[in-house]
Amino acid sequence: MHILIIDDERDSLLLLKKILRDAGYKDVFVAGSAEEAFCILGIKDECVPAAKIDMILTDVYMPGMDGIEAVRRIKSHKSLEDVPVIMITASNDSDKLQASFALGAVDYIMKPINKFELISRIRSVIRLKHETDKRKEREHELMEVSRRLEDANRILMRISSEDGLTGLQNRRFFDEHFEIEWKRAFRESSKLSLIMIDVDYFKAYNDRYGHLAGDDCLKMVTAALKALIKRPADFIARYGGEEFVVVLPATDEVGALKVAEEMRQTVESAGIAHENSTTAPCVTISLGVACADPVINNVPEALIADADRALYRAKAGGRNRVEVA
Ligand code: GH3
Ligand code: MG
Ligand code: MG
Repeated sequence: MHILIIDDERDSLLLLKKILRDAGYKDVFVAGSAEEAFCILGIKDECVPAAKIDMILTDVYMPGMDGIEAVRRIKSHKSLEDVPVIMITASNDSDKLQASFALGAVDYIMKPINKFELISRIRSVIRLKHETDKRKEREHELMEVSRRLEDANRILMRISSEDGLTGLQNRRFFDEHFEIEWKRAFRESSKLSLIMIDVDYFKAYNDRYGHLAGDDCLKMVTAALKALIKRPADFIARYGGEEFVVVLPATDEVGALKVAEEMRQTVESAGIAHENSTTAPCVTISLGVACADPVINNVPEALIADADRALYRAKAGGRNRVEVA
């Protein structure tokens, strides 16, 4: 327990030091002025701290810098803000005492010093400090636990909205976010477009190359499609087995058709061999485009059904093509 006493009266300093030593507090530091105390605390230029001080007793009235200003300076240092300070005063000047409590002093004691009073105040301050430290430690632990929980939640959120095979957003994410985008489009009176995509003859691909190769093929198709999602609000999700869905907010039919056609071409030119396709020698996709104005056609499910019907027509019309609702 390192205690620092600050007092300009030498006799008072020596008396306080003796009382503390007699009570068993061996490591007592004394300073005859605020400046001297700053040096012992190591908060003055070219002074190294004499020790890690656990408690400060300071006189209120001192020539030069008084005890109040000294406490203000000491408490402004992060490393010292929690060190308990007891004020020593010869007068019952409540303004001065209030000012020191506002700055973080925890108690005061009147001169002339009563030995028993001083020791009991010091003991209760030590107990208080101990409890405050424990509480802070618990708060710190709690904050750490809640930080870890937040991290875990973020990971969970990501996992629960992500498709394991392709890394795309999953159907669950689509269901939630399609609705959000629909409401946004309604509020902003803007158009919302949807592209439904289905890999052509994918059952035949699996039959010919095996299920694992089928998985790889889905990943390659994913990479080709993802590269064409450029606006921050656009997103692509895995809708089902070999089906994907693209949501394009604030996009009209012409814009959506353009994206869809680019997607079709990109997958075709990826040239993933597919010997069992009767449409092309490589893997191709069929796409259905639909566009809605949520203010006019206020049924989000209808947009999905429209895109689905357009996709069906693309299949019926020979596959590897884009149809619009
Ligand atoms: P169409 O051109 O009419 O779309 O024919 P298709 O064979 O692609 O359509 P169908 O719906 O008959 O078959 C889809 C196939 O996709 C069947 C299923 O085994 C396969 N499939 C779905 N999900 C996965 C997957 O995660 N991995 C693999 N390898 N295959 C999948
Ligand atoms: Mg399908
Ligand atoms: Mg298919």
